[in-house]
Amino acid sequence: GPVIGVLALQGDVREHLAALAGAGADARPVRRPTELDAVDGLVVPGGESTTMSRLVDVFGLRDPIDKRIADGMPVYGSCAGMIMLAAEVLDGRPDQRGFAGITMTVRRNAFGRQVDSFEAPVGITGIDGGPFHAVFIRAPWVERVGADVEVLGRVTGGPAVDRIVAVRQGNLLATSFHPELTGDLRLHRYFADLVGAAR
Ligand code: GLN
Repeated sequence: GPVIGVLALQGDVREHLAALAGAGADARPVRRPTELDAVDGLVVPGGESTTMSRLVDVFGLRDPIDKRIADGMPVYGSCAGMIMLAAEVLDGRPDQRGFAGITMTVRRNAFGRQVDSFEAPVGITGIDGGPFHAVFIRAPWVERVGADVEVLGRVTGGPAVDRIVAVRQGNLLATSFHPELTGDLRLHRYFADLVGAAR
């Protein structure tokens, strides 16, 4: 399978490595630029986007990742990873910076403090087999998308009225929820296929 890295600075790295391996990828942690050079695609995990933003600079990965994205490397971001891929972040910290790959505005911790976490079914365009059992943990939602962004999924359950929670723009994929936590490998397979096709 394709070689897929997981940005391993912070967050639920192990869960993504396991899900990618289950989906048939050669999954590896990425902490250094040389490790980034060796992968065909990258997962940016859930965690804390302000901390991740800082560590990306500390580990010297900002420019290398920006360059790979500009060259078309597929990236999948879940939750904090979605925030890291957004062109604009609302309710972020002023100093947090992402890779700005997807023309979208996300709102951090969007679903409100009364429900830090919830679960709801989310169908994803292009993935068969029924809705995902989506787990949201202090999750962002997508508030606006650019013309080039394909909306793949919305949540209407839980505390959400009707919010965009899955998007794709070219080789960049992002979800507000955490498929790596539920043993449902379909999104990781979808991403592995995307990486294989881009290679
Ligand atoms: N609230 C976190 C952030 O702002 C994201 C939460 C998550 O990744 N589970 O980065």
